[in-house]
Amino acid sequence: TRLSRLPERAAVVDLDAIRHNVRVIRKVAEPARLMAVVKADGYGHGSVQVARAALAAGASWLGVAHISEALTLRAAGIDAPILAWLHTPDSNFSAAVAAGIDLGCSGWELEAIVAAAREQERPARVHLKIDTGLGRNGAPADRWEAVVGEAVQYQDEGLLRVAGVFSHFAVADEPERPETDLQLDAFREAIALAEDAGCDLEVRHIANSPAVFSRPDSHFDLVRVGISVYGLSPFADQTSADLGLRPAMTLRATLSQAKRVPAEQGVSYGLSYRTSSPSALGLVPLGYADGVPRTSEGGPVRIAGRTYPVVGRVAMDQIVVDLGPDADPKAFRGAEAVLFGTGDDGGPTADDWARATGTINYEIVTRISPRVPRVYE
Ligand code: PLP
Repeated sequence: TRLSRLPERAAVVDLDAIRHNVRVIRKVAEPARLMAVVKADGYGHGSVQVARAALAAGASWLGVAHISEALTLRAAGIDAPILAWLHTPDSNFSAAVAAGIDLGCSGWELEAIVAAAREQERPARVHLKIDTGLGRNGAPADRWEAVVGEAVQYQDEGLLRVAGVFSHFAVADEPERPETDLQLDAFREAIALAEDAGCDLEVRHIANSPAVFSRPDSHFDLVRVGISVYGLSPFADQTSADLGLRPAMTLRATLSQAKRVPAEQGVSYGLSYRTSSPSALGLVPLGYADGVPRTSEGGPVRIAGRTYPVVGRVAMDQIVVDLGPDADPKAFRGAEAVLFGTGDDGGPTADDWARATGTINYEIVTRISPRVPRVYE
């Protein structure tokens, strides 16, 4: 059975679901190509395994925040194009150039990137980033012309190749808001300026998961997709199933204990929960050190086809569920507890956990800590 071959605690990752999601997204985005965003260890799913599955299913690029994340992919033998876009002045640009990693560039990095190109005796490939409204990295609009001018000069010297222009949306998950149109206008202008200045662009890209589904006019040559590759919806009012996606991660553990307790039994630190009648409690060996939010009281846990609430405070290593007054603890010995998964059997999803804990599905999956073994099927 499943239990006999799984570790007692596991984030089970269904790579078939990853491949399915990539095919769905590619269909929606066609003819644009797909960059699978695998930063933060593949949103907690394992960057190398997800990257391989995504590439096998038709993704042609990989995207990460940090150069170190890109180097991890290269070290695993992945030779697909990779873009890394978040740097500091002391980032290791030389290692990136040596490893053939494309660098997102807001402007301030140009000098250091060119120094790395000189050191490695090979032109650095950059994607110039414009801040079209998100207010994070990217060149501010009033600096764009100067940044492009500087990059083209280095390109003329053979030190740089401006391979792309990109930007990032702020509110694409709320399709009714007007700011996305303004960002798109600014992006089109930025592309035109770069092309007029002599950039022979391979790729122009701005669309994230929500824009893939809600803004076909934002797809350009390439879409940069994270959360939907993992089968989760970027929209508050649409589920994975609504979008044809399959959640890839199931967080599960074997119950460590089930026992009867009297009425008025206080549960966990602070005794913030007390049983209202004699009841049975189940102990699930996953706690905040494993990435279960400490604000999880009431969060849903699926055991043997029924859903039970987390009661009392989340501890470092465990949570407690109230199995109810009629439960026979012996029947729960060695039972499997699922915090979130596909939702197919009516069980809880990462969306349910996000709602229960006041966060978003992105945070639910990325925060699962390295202490929880990832298992691939
Ligand atoms: N592009 C950039 C620059 C990002 O930072 C991210 C992730 O936040 C993505 C694309 C992917 O976004 P999503 O997971 O919403 O598809």
